[in-house]
Amino acid sequence: MVDLQGQYQKIKSEIDGAIQRIIDSAAFVKGPEVKEFERELARYLNVRHVIACGNGTDALQIALMVLNLKPGDEVITPDFTFIATVEVIALLGLKPVLVDVNPDDFTLCMESLKKSIHKKTRVILPVHLFGQCSNMEQIQMLARENNLVVIEDNAQAIGSDYRFNDGTIKKAGTLAEIGCTSFFPSKNLGCYGDGGAVCTHDDELADKLSTIMNHGMKVRYYHDIIGVNSRLDAIQAAILRVKLGYLDAYIKARQKVADYYDHAFRNSGEIIIPQRNKYSTHVFHQYTIRLRSKNRDKLKAYLESKGIPAMVYYPVPLHRQKAFRYLGLQDTDYPVTMELCNSVLSLPMHTELDDEQLEYISTAVNDFVTMQ
Ligand SMILES: *Cc1c(COP(=O)(O)O)cnc(C)c1O
Repeated sequence: MVDLQGQYQKIKSEIDGAIQRIIDSAAFVKGPEVKEFERELARYLNVRHVIACGNGTDALQIALMVLNLKPGDEVITPDFTFIATVEVIALLGLKPVLVDVNPDDFTLCMESLKKSIHKKTRVILPVHLFGQCSNMEQIQMLARENNLVVIEDNAQAIGSDYRFNDGTIKKAGTLAEIGCTSFFPSKNLGCYGDGGAVCTHDDELADKLSTIMNHGMKVRYYHDIIGVNSRLDAIQAAILRVKLGYLDAYIKARQKVADYYDHAFRNSGEIIIPQRNKYSTHVFHQYTIRLRSKNRDKLKAYLESKGIPAMVYYPVPLHRQKAFRYLGLQDTDYPVTMELCNSVLSLPMHTELDDEQLEYISTAVNDFVTMQ
């Protein structure tokens, strides 16, 4: 699904030099390297503040902690996403309100969202799933009308451009009050371990976010609020500084792979290719097809027999996870998510795929369809 070794080989001397520099400096936690990375990422995203932390899940948790929410306050998020998004809501004693998604772009469904806004709703937490932005213009409008805060889960869409109706273009993760991202190795901007960050345009929020991340202290050993310990290692920051320089090229490589797949499957009556939204560029964290028939698992097994990995993101809707059974949610409220969990399949997608591999993969997919 990914080829991190192949990617490393091409930038080996830069990465090795960066890691060696940190070992020589012996400043392993926080320090100037992390500050420099935060500044460079903020410049790339065109946002006032980037604050790095331990991982993407922490980024989401800290973003929620900063809002002074009360137990039982409601946070709306999609049913079709990675567990981290909803886990942190529940951990903080808040109530996750799961809503269905669109079948074609896998992001928050506006109709379900509107119906889920109630008296106790405080936050909307859209997920830019698979590399494409949610409908932020409408989400922001709903948030303003209902006095809600928006936090973006941008773990999968860093580098994506969002176009507002008035023509303004902004980067994913900088479209709301707080944006959260992850630098997990397989993410579009991945380090060589765990890492994450929050972004905001707001000075006051930025100050509070960095205080929470640092045991709630501004002056050493004086703790103003209850915080956590979540920080990015300097070695990871050094690696990320190198890789940030390649992020746009990496995105282009992913888009080229997506174009190849789109073209290979364009005439298929069986395969539905991922929709590209008008308002967002797609950075293809995943290339996720849907099958019209019930043959998804058979296709996955067939590809595996040909040595081609394929993954189901995500096989179980969040509302059906054992951990969230206490919410008492019904399948009937999530028809699209239920359908997606049975029909989606993500194909190999990374920066190192060459035409020969792409031909092998897409031929196998098309052969399977013809055989049915
Ligand atoms: C990866 C991911 C996260 C969590 O990031 P970690 O760095 O692994 O903690 C959160 N949300 C989504 C949608 C993700 O894909």
